Amino acid sequence: MSQTFDQFQALYSRIRHFNRAATLMSWDLYTATPKNGYQDMSDTLTYFSSESFSLSTSDEFRALLTSLSQPEELNALSEGMQYTVKKLKKQMEKNSRIPKDFYEELISLQSASMQAWGEAKRTADFSIFAPYLEKLIDKTIQRCAYTDPGKDTYEVLLDEYEEGMDSASIDRVFSELKEGLVPLLDQILAAPQPDSSLFKGYYDPDAQKKVQELLLTYIGFSLESGTVAESEHPFTLGFSKHDVRVTNHFRPDDPLCAMFSAIHEGGHGIFEQNVDSALQNTEADDCPFMGVHESQSRFFENMLGRNRNFWLPIYPQIQELLPELKRISLDDFVREINHVKNSFIRTDADEVTYPLHIIIRYEIEQAIFRDHTPVSELPSLWNQKMQQYLHITPSNDAEGILQDMHWSDGSFGYFPSYLLGSIYDGMFLQAIEHDLGSIDELLAAGRILEITHWLNEKIHRYGGLRLPKDVLREVCHKELSAQPLLTYFREKYTKLYQ
Ligand code: ZN
Repeated sequence: MSQTFDQFQALYSRIRHFNRAATLMSWDLYTATPKNGYQDMSDTLTYFSSESFSLSTSDEFRALLTSLSQPEELNALSEGMQYTVKKLKKQMEKNSRIPKDFYEELISLQSASMQAWGEAKRTADFSIFAPYLEKLIDKTIQRCAYTDPGKDTYEVLLDEYEEGMDSASIDRVFSELKEGLVPLLDQILAAPQPDSSLFKGYYDPDAQKKVQELLLTYIGFSLESGTVAESEHPFTLGFSKHDVRVTNHFRPDDPLCAMFSAIHEGGHGIFEQNVDSALQNTEADDCPFMGVHESQSRFFENMLGRNRNFWLPIYPQIQELLPELKRISLDDFVREINHVKNSFIRTDADEVTYPLHIIIRYEIEQAIFRDHTPVSELPSLWNQKMQQYLHITPSNDAEGILQDMHWSDGSFGYFPSYLLGSIYDGMFLQAIEHDLGSIDELLAAGRILEITHWLNEKIHRYGGLRLPKDVLREVCHKELSAQPLLTYFREKYTKLYQ
């Protein structure tokens, strides 16, 4: 290896050590730090992050990246390192066009805005958040003009979360889905509904933790390279493929919530644990595309976890761990985990109405950045769309436009990736059945790990190397389409709701 590469490697490894320390602190902040220690811990986190930021924007690092980008240097590197150099160089070029004082203003606006949003949501008062949202939108437009001069703002934002998926492709699949879903949903809602009150009872959180362990192990999450903790909102954090952490939240009156969060976060975790070892300590060691990542968690959660056959081999064990479930037959359990209802809150939505929650957000983001709809009109636009797609109107903005955190720190363009994930899942399901045969049969026979291994081989091992559309081409040999997801919905729910 060249001397330049050795110098780069030394600096890059320092940056990664700082990043790992900072990640560990944020893990600690969310899972363990007591309230009174919060400020000190977050000061230390800020210190480590800014050390890493100054190293990665230093003249020395810039010079090293520039010389490693020369073809003769670049071609001598491993695949993971080529990816790393290209990615970091692109990032550096974009960031260097943002004036420093603008960047600092944006960071402080983000944290003020998150606080205002929290207050607005608590009091269901949009006017508290509105002035911040207005400024965030302006600054976001400005930021995109710096990083990607001449490009459409919303395209730039979409690209940040799911590179290569432009709004033309998203428009096409989302409207395909909308057309198929709306009539299906009307049919489902007109049919007799399951009785949720069967589930009333006390579910010991410690027993729920044992169920979580069983589920994680069952789907293929390694507890030797992973660990679990509790937090208000479940999430996954990967330090490396050997150390992936998931969290959960246990509600004594609801056993289902934690089970499905376990399967969902477990799906993210399995992805991280199975990236090829050759990509370790490079930027490709995890997948930066939110749609692809979310496709994996949602595949485990919905395509597998909400399938009756998933539970067939393990339901008796789960009933032993949670004796309250002994009153509930497998059929009633399966009906409840697939209970379709129009509801206000995205994160509580079932898999059939979920896409409509995302489509509403996507259309509003377009109204913001393309039609320049004034902020003051957004709550009523939200309510109109809820009525149009889900036939319900929120009674206040806390269960309407203020419910999600994403816009409060300027994460515009993030929402569509959740739904893209589900659309990919419809396609992956077909590809798996083509290769391995019926998923129902595999699950019923307790052979779920064969499905996990298929995903490991076809998707997980590549980490961040392949762009979303390349993943689809390599795995499914097809272009993006919502039809497979619609077919899955139609077949499954016609059976469930007769
Ligand atoms: Zn997720």
